Amino acid sequence: CGIFAYLNFNISRERRYILEVLFNGLRRLEYRGYDSAGISIDSSLTSSNAGVAPPSLVFRQEGNIESLVKSVYQDVAATDLNLQESFLIHAGIAHTRWATHGEPAPRNSHPQSSDAGNEFLVVHNGVITNYEVLKESLVRHGFTFESDTDTEVIPKLAKFVFDNANEEGVGDKRVTFSQVVLEVMRHLEGAYALIFKSRHYPNELIACKRGSPLLLGVKELTEEDNRASFNDSKFLSSNGEPKELFLSSDPSALVEHTKKVLVIEDGEVVHLKDGGASIFKFDHAKGKGGETLVRPAS
Ligand code: GLU
Repeated sequence: CGIFAYLNFNISRERRYILEVLFNGLRRLEYRGYDSAGISIDSSLTSSNAGVAPPSLVFRQEGNIESLVKSVYQDVAATDLNLQESFLIHAGIAHTRWATHGEPAPRNSHPQSSDAGNEFLVVHNGVITNYEVLKESLVRHGFTFESDTDTEVIPKLAKFVFDNANEEGVGDKRVTFSQVVLEVMRHLEGAYALIFKSRHYPNELIACKRGSPLLLGVKELTEEDNRASFNDSKFLSSNGEPKELFLSSDPSALVEHTKKVLVIEDGEVVHLKDGGASIFKFDHAKGKGGETLVRPAS
């Protein structure tokens, strides 16, 4: 019922800090109601954009946020995961679920995953109405499903698109993250706000929406005054300056971080990469997208 993401760019943040930003985001979404919660963070340094990162860590829990928080810190204590490890760039995602398909249970909580190696992870608000058809076809292609959710087809479809595009051999010019997501969107019916995280595209996030709310928040850390207008071209193209980028289904999770908030419209795709936010328009009727859309905040 709520989605949240936090991406720090060119500013060192410890794992504990990243976890707390994600947990606080979830606490802000709590009032909308939920039955389960989950997050994903990186297992180790992934600040290089080259190649595949190690599998992301996923924590999911039925029940309230505080039971998720408790179980995450218990898991951290039981492993050698270092809370002080710091990341110059890191992309974390979080979700509160109000079950529509599949009972409240850890395996039905989000992030939902493409495979055991967590190549693609997705948090989803809404309902995918054609998930059964998609599921059948993915099963025919060898995918096995872990959950009873409608959501699980989304990360699996992303992996299917990614694997196929790479097999088709576009040389060393791999398919981009936004190309993968635009192709996935082409197959989805229903209502959604989605955030994608992938080890093939470390330190990037993609969000898109159709019918469910989604907002982008940008915090410029070098600017004393954080009220700079969205007409400022710095918003879309990165200048390498430290930034914190946020995605949320609800403004209440953003206002404590920044006043610079953009409401994402139906059919828009937000690609967070290299400290910038590119916004693409997806034309569902035509089934294609990819045109960069630069628009000032109204
Ligand atoms: N339909 C999805 C599920 O049941 C997402 C529900 C939500 O918006 O929280 O898992």
